[in-house]
Amino acid sequence: MGPRILFSGPEDHWPLWRPHLLAAFADAGLDVTLTDDPSGPWTFDYVVYAPGGAVRDFGPFERLKAVLSLWAGVETIVDDASIVVPLCRMVDTGLTRGMVEWVTAHVMRYHLGTDAHVLGQDGVWRNRVVPPLAPERSIGVLGLGELGRSVAAALAGLGFRVTGWSRGPRELAGVETRSGAEGLGEVLAASEILVLLLPATPATEGILDAHALARLPRGARIVNPGRGTLIDDAALLKALDHGHVAHATLDVFREEPLPAGHPFWAHPRITVTPHIAAATRPETASLAIAENVRRGEAGLDFLHVVNRAERY
Ligand code: NAP
Repeated sequence: MGPRILFSGPEDHWPLWRPHLLAAFADAGLDVTLTDDPSGPWTFDYVVYAPGGAVRDFGPFERLKAVLSLWAGVETIVDDASIVVPLCRMVDTGLTRGMVEWVTAHVMRYHLGTDAHVLGQDGVWRNRVVPPLAPERSIGVLGLGELGRSVAAALAGLGFRVTGWSRGPRELAGVETRSGAEGLGEVLAASEILVLLLPATPATEGILDAHALARLPRGARIVNPGRGTLIDDAALLKALDHGHVAHATLDVFREEPLPAGHPFWAHPRITVTPHIAAATRPETASLAIAENVRRGEAGLDFLHVVNRAERY
């Protein structure tokens, strides 16, 4: 008998994911039983997991081989001590492509100053400002993982001067790279536009605090599709009010949905987007899930296993 797989996610996810998962398992040559019914937890080999599903405790899943997260960011599950098998995070071509498109759009908005023309058209012929070309613009990307790497490469491909930052040293064609505490200061100082693609971990909590914001060039712009915890909200508001930071586009927040009364909503120098930078798309992400199940069944190492100690 093939592996038994439990889908545990928000109720409305199941009908969307089921056909794509079944097709992907079939394409991978896997004869699986796939269900969203969590009864008999000890019978399941894999749990496909997104926050908001039925599974709260992995303890009774006695024969589990892996937990396969539909999310790239795993901060809500990484500390779950009841998971004693590999926890794999989502790396998906659709997710990556979506992130590259979203970040590029917001970077280009800042780079070209498109707001001056898109907003407030009033019959007056003005704002004939010639923007610099990409090679004259410096962009910093914090986080050079699956997403940050692709974003940095795409921006470098457009000709921008890109500097990227990661925990360990990384090499990336066309991108200057830095790591460690001293490297962060250098990247911030070189970021007319700063893109945050770090995971939410204790080490990245509030990494963009007053001190870090002060390292940015005056008039810098910030694009945060990483996680809300990366930013010290009060420090950002202060930097925006003083004009040190000119504008921020924020997709993720410490509290989601962002509460109606939160000062970010009404701030003239903040664009809020509702955590839509990059979705996990069933069409492509199901292939990633099937590949990991295939590997598990073949006795191979799983892909994209979370480092539980580093929390990402
Ligand atoms: P990833 O592959 O795990 O990459 C994380 C990157 O951050 C790596 O380069 C890592 O450095 C670096 N990093 C981690 N901790 C660090 C630290 N303390 N100091 C310096 N660098 C550190 O993650 P990913 O797939 O690129 O995803 C990044 C994040 O994007 C996710 O965690 C999630 O929060 C967010 N996300 C948001 C959306 C959205 O719609 N808004 C969608 C998907 C994902 P090393 O390379 O040295 O390990």
